[in-house]
Amino acid sequence: MRCAIISDIHGNFDALERVIADAMSFGSLDAIWCLGDIVGYGPNPNECVRELRECEICGTAVYAVAGNHDRAATGKISIAEFNPDAATAARWTIKSLTPETRAYLDGLPVRLDGRAVPSLGDFTLVHGTPHDPVWDYMDSEAVALASLAEIGTAHCLVGHTHRAEYYALRPKGHSGQLPSSGHDDGYDDDGPASTQISVSAFDHGTIVDLEPDVRLIANPGSVGQPRDGLSSASYLLLETTDRGQTRLQARRVEYNIDDVQRKMREAGLPPRLIARLRHGR
Ligand code: ZN
Repeated sequence: MRCAIISDIHGNFDALERVIADAMSFGSLDAIWCLGDIVGYGPNPNECVRELRECEICGTAVYAVAGNHDRAATGKISIAEFNPDAATAARWTIKSLTPETRAYLDGLPVRLDGRAVPSLGDFTLVHGTPHDPVWDYMDSEAVALASLAEIGTAHCLVGHTHRAEYYALRPKGHSGQLPSSGHDDGYDDDGPASTQISVSAFDHGTIVDLEPDVRLIANPGSVGQPRDGLSSASYLLLETTDRGQTRLQARRVEYNIDDVQRKMREAGLPPRLIARLRHGR
């Protein structure tokens, strides 16, 4: 089983194409799990949706949840809470969608998990957090702990922050324990001292093996508008070996940023959104 976990494509078709090609360079791709914000900000919302649908036609199962920008593009949420540049881009996206793209986005659920869809295994998929899948940010250990307590699967996949990172909840003294910011949490029934949570960056090439007693919340970062200081498209490759070991590998992929910036200028999209693709911020 090989699966590309992608998020926050934001209408950046050039980046999406490169990411899918990179994932397929490892072998055939059984699935794409998309954590939302397929559209918004970028110049090719229709092409991004079409690419996902074509992957499906070619035999790659695509499971996608909606993000706040997908919901705004179909009028399901107001753009009043968007910052001015995001609102400008959202209005442009609303105007640009084909009926097919709008129908696809409109049909996306906000949450999927392996209890309802067995091929998702022990994962819950949301854009923001399980508590508020559309708006909340997975941005602290406290939110991560509350999220793990709320879901019915071992692991959770999120997007929305545009930062590739993962939270790991481990038993104390676990051999794979990371040296970063672990602290007592009081979450586990065995008492506050029995588990600890840590957050780590997913640098290019980072491999995390799934272990029975470690619960993960993984964020693949953003395909189309990274905000972690790197301009390259970010995603996760999930692979299960013949012996049943599942691992996540963080990937960064270069794409032609100049071409996307040119298309954004031609579309009249806000200059700040055009510039940030180069800075990754
Ligand atoms: Zn986003």
